[in-house]
Amino acid sequence: AGFLMMQRVAVLGATGSIGTSALDVIARHPQRMRASVLAAGSQVDALLALCRSHAPDHAVIADMASYSALRDGLRTAGLATQAHAGSEALDALVASDACDTVVAAIVGAAGLPSTLAAARVGKRLLLANKESLVLAGELLMREAHAHGAVIVPIDSEHNAIFQCLANGNTPSRITLTASGGPFRGWSGRRLAQVTPAQAVAHPKWSMGPKISVDSATLMNKGLEVIEAHHLFEVPVDAIRVLVHPQSLVHSMVDFIDGSSLAQLGLPDMRTALAVGLGWPKRIASGVPALDLLSEGGRLEFEPPDLAAFPCLSLAFAAIRAGGTAPAVLNAANEEAVSAFLQGHIGFLDIPSTVAAALDAMPANPTDSIEALLASDAQARVNARQTIARIAGSRT
Ligand code: NAD
Ligand code: MG
Repeated sequence: AGFLMMQRVAVLGATGSIGTSALDVIARHPQRMRASVLAAGSQVDALLALCRSHAPDHAVIADMASYSALRDGLRTAGLATQAHAGSEALDALVASDACDTVVAAIVGAAGLPSTLAAARVGKRLLLANKESLVLAGELLMREAHAHGAVIVPIDSEHNAIFQCLANGNTPSRITLTASGGPFRGWSGRRLAQVTPAQAVAHPKWSMGPKISVDSATLMNKGLEVIEAHHLFEVPVDAIRVLVHPQSLVHSMVDFIDGSSLAQLGLPDMRTALAVGLGWPKRIASGVPALDLLSEGGRLEFEPPDLAAFPCLSLAFAAIRAGGTAPAVLNAANEEAVSAFLQGHIGFLDIPSTVAAALDAMPANPTDSIEALLASDAQARVNARQTIARIAGSRT
């Protein structure tokens, strides 16, 4: 007795922005935790570099064609790490006793199967992959409850709310703060000319390309409204969004007695990851304490511009419609963001592509995984048609 169990952590999306931050925090606590599984999409060299520094038991590459490159690279490096490939191998490892904690930081709907696999075996789930909650929130929460999986949200806003609700009380309202993105205050005319390079240059947070574009359109905040609705079981009407350009107040909750609690900190995801890895204990994250004066001494708030950034209203409409509508919203958005990043469509074509998919596919009131995945697939077909039409008319 008296010894600490070593926490074994699976980092899914290890080569990404969140994955890198998670490994940074884990490496600060070699006595308490280690990365036992590392998984990435297709960047074998980046995954091999992480294996050399963290020596995990298992490394998984989603792209099947990259298996031999991973296996040979591990052998050449003299590592005992076992190589795996494909999403089924990943789901099996997540569910196995190779890990106690899962950091779900794959980007997009591709993260749903591994997230569900972790929930179904009752692992501690550090959930960054918000798209899985948007696509299948009711199902995912039901599985987590049924199997005793503790979900610690890693999205900074939801992590803030999670901390504010640690006393077990139910909030009467949730306020999600938003930085407003790089185009806060811009008009529709200027927004039409935005380039991918401008859209991924976020003023406050350093993040992967997809979520950076989502932050610029405010779709990210829309996805977060849906995420908060599922995580904290609050009605959509009790969730509001306030733009807070300083990005120091990460979110806020109100209680019936007139109290409001907020969580503050520098915009660095290692804080949220340390909350998840150490919970309920506080552990060092490498993030310095907030000094409000050196950060400018002001906290400002303003309502979002729903006319210039229609994605936020589209997300509210989708969660109010319920059923398969959020899955359609998310899938069409993933396709539109990818087309925008490749230069095929303009910035304002992102909301119109999503709106067209929602119009074409009325919400089906179900949360069966088959129906949700079918809606996701159909919405992608629909969005690609819209994108091809727009791209054709631009040339
Ligand atoms: P990123 O693009 O930097 O990294 C994505 C990771 O996912 C990479 O490691 C990539 O290899 C992996 N990946 C992609 N497709 C995969 C597949 N099919 N199978 C396995 N792995 C795959 O993205 P990110 O910014 O780290 O974001 C990851 C998730 O966290 C997203 O859902 C995002 O919304 C959420 N999130 C990120 C931040 C942030 O600060 N970056 C904040 C809040 C929430
Ligand atoms: Mg967020």
